Amino acid sequence: VAVGVDVGGSKILGLVVDPAGEVLARALRATPGSSSPDGGEALGKAIAEVLNDLDGQLSSTAAVGVGLPGLVIGRRRLVYAPHLRSAQGADLASLLAPVLRGRTLVVANDADLAALAEHRAGAACGHSDALVLTLGTGIGSGLIVDGELRVGSGFAGEVGHMVVDVDGPRCPCGARGCWERFASGSGLGRLAREAAMAGRLVSLVDGLGGDPELVRGEDVTTAAAAGDPEACSLLDELGWWLASGIANLVCVLDPSVVVVGGGLAGVTPLFLPAAERHLATLLEASALRPAIELRSAAFGAEAGAVGASIFAREVA
Ligand SMILES: [Zn+2]
Repeated sequence: VAVGVDVGGSKILGLVVDPAGEVLARALRATPGSSSPDGGEALGKAIAEVLNDLDGQLSSTAAVGVGLPGLVIGRRRLVYAPHLRSAQGADLASLLAPVLRGRTLVVANDADLAALAEHRAGAACGHSDALVLTLGTGIGSGLIVDGELRVGSGFAGEVGHMVVDVDGPRCPCGARGCWERFASGSGLGRLAREAAMAGRLVSLVDGLGGDPELVRGEDVTTAAAAGDPEACSLLDELGWWLASGIANLVCVLDPSVVVVGGGLAGVTPLFLPAAERHLATLLEASALRPAIELRSAAFGAEAGAVGASIFAREVA
């Protein structure tokens, strides 16, 4: 077996997973709120609690993998974490040493680990080159090249901050027109509000009492699922933005499959077919080149923790 821990925005999930992918034990803790920097002490304590909880359920000498939302160096140190500032700079190997009791620890970026799970046991299984996108507040991604996860110096695959519109909206990262301002869950919400302010999404806005500012991404996906033509047209737009970024990435990586998961995973039938159609028009010589399949992720919220356990088993 191997242990996988995924540190998310609000909770930390730990799993003990066997080689067939079966989850044998589960533990959950709240992610410590990111207040003042503490070198990762609160985070280390919370992860240690998760590991102790798992050990209590199923004592093992298994290697431990941990996924973190940020830039991880040397498989142990979190050097940059915009959504977990208090832990920035934390050396997980030192912080967790007391609870590891000699077990191997490997730490990696959470989106990379979700990609590893999809490649080894999910929707990208069998493809030597794959791109795995996590569409949520932003866009996370993991790159599989020649069957292996590519992390570069640590942050390869931060594709959400590719600039797709130089005059586009400001991104929290400081740049303008990043891909994730358009093709993520929050991007859909932004596209929807803009459309509503411009007088589109009429029946949806009417249903919300007439205030276009109240329109959220979920309202659009619900309306589209019910057949509202304007909502369907907005999801077609989301599909175009998704396809335009994928087309850029195809120029660099040329994967045979692109897997889409994250917060929007549950509604991929509403926009993936459109993205596939738009991708065909955006790619050079698309009628002559091997097709690129766009697929929904096989793993849901546990992708990161499962990937962390796989990573631990493979590198330990
Ligand atoms: Zn950005």
